[in-house]
Amino acid sequence: MKDLEIRQRDRRALREAYSRAVRNFEIASIAGYALVMAWLLMSIAPRIAENPFLAFAAFMVGFIAADFGSGFVHWTADTWGTAEWPIIGKALIRPFREHHVDEKEITRHDFVETNGNNCFISSPVAAIAALLPDGTVWFFLAAMIFAMCLAIFGTNQFHKWAHMDAPPRYVQVLQRANLILPPEHHAVHHTAPHAKYYCITVGWLNEALFRLRFFQTLEKIIAHLTGLIPREDDIGKRAALVVAQQPPPPLPDCRRSC
Ligand SMILES: [Zn+2]
Ligand SMILES: [Zn+2]
Repeated sequence: MKDLEIRQRDRRALREAYSRAVRNFEIASIAGYALVMAWLLMSIAPRIAENPFLAFAAFMVGFIAADFGSGFVHWTADTWGTAEWPIIGKALIRPFREHHVDEKEITRHDFVETNGNNCFISSPVAAIAALLPDGTVWFFLAAMIFAMCLAIFGTNQFHKWAHMDAPPRYVQVLQRANLILPPEHHAVHHTAPHAKYYCITVGWLNEALFRLRFFQTLEKIIAHLTGLIPREDDIGKRAALVVAQQPPPPLPDCRRSC
């Protein structure tokens, strides 16, 4: 990958684009998220006590859904759009561009900057879950969404810990147990051209999505339909074209591994 001629954006310009308006937006998002999640928890709490095993199953599905969601949002923001887009560009795309240019910057983010974006994304989903009707299936869905939104809230924190040189001891235990994103696993994404291992909640789905060519196939479909070049804004047109034309990863050989 050394001869890709990757051209990334200026680190200082990306940092300066973190304005007071974006910070206010993040603070409002965190406050909104706390209110909506409290409302959702109150609406499902009686059913959790009645049926703890069903609730546990829903929580597990929600955790895995969050891992997938983290990968999907990360892939979308890494691959398409520019940091100059109004609102979404400044608030959602810019941090992903900055993260590829300076992966340690996230370790200097405070609570608001770390968690504001994910609160904004998950609040409307949690609000819809709180409005779901009664019934076992609806309860399962609401409990699943509660766990998913909680794990999405934790995602940037887990991501930040994966970049810290010396995270707290309990964090290291969770990372080694593969219950939150392990640093060595996430390091695969930070190898240029940053085109795989997008899931950053825990990373359980990364290898499967890579082998299934999930994001690569989506990129080909979107590029074909729109004429856009995946990750052109992130690494420059020349490198993006080279990456887009690379052959897909080999599928697992079942004769050897199954
Ligand atoms: Zn990325
Ligand atoms: Zn990272």
